[in-house]
Amino acid sequence: MQAGKLIVITGPSGVGKGTLVKKLLLTHSELYLSISATTRSPRSHEEHGKDYYFLTKEEFQQMIKNNSLLEWAQYTENYYGTPRIPVEARLKQGQNVLLEIEVLGAGQIKANFPNSSTVFILPPSLEELERRLQARGTETPEVIASRMEKAREEIASSDSFDFKICNEDLEVTVEDLEKIIFQS
Ligand code: 5GP
Repeated sequence: MQAGKLIVITGPSGVGKGTLVKKLLLTHSELYLSISATTRSPRSHEEHGKDYYFLTKEEFQQMIKNNSLLEWAQYTENYYGTPRIPVEARLKQGQNVLLEIEVLGAGQIKANFPNSSTVFILPPSLEELERRLQARGTETPEVIASRMEKAREEIASSDSFDFKICNEDLEVTVEDLEKIIFQS
């Protein structure tokens, strides 16, 4: 059986990666979205095992030690990583797998899975990105400031990814992603 395709969606926090991925899954339920592990605290609407596996720092470190993560990175003050077993199992079964992760992790995936497709989602502008982060209403002004600082660094590295898409109009961006996933 042919192995599934690994598609990595990356880009700055607030650019709309999560919304894009949810929209894709509504019409393509055959795709598998990896559930990440994180040491960040859950937001009010988030559920353990659905949005993330919310772990303590010790539990996360144990996963690193056991080689249970396909990639991991520290993002601002928290750790985030992709559990290895579910992703490898799906790929082996021929299912296409989506990862929605930050840029350092995306780089690790590309290095280890050269056949993966990495897609960097750009905001129309930094001002618009800040506006989206503020509109989300889930982060304090300090956290927004550190995410904006990180966003500048991340955008500077966007040329190292296979595809770049500007997320101006959600519907158009979803169509662009569909072309990458199903035609490339
Ligand atoms: P948030 O705290 O807003 O949920 O996520 C912060 C950043 O971490 C986002 O850019 C998100 O895409 C990224 N992220 C989520 N899961 C993972 C993961 O498993 N690995 C890596 N490297 N980044 C992740």
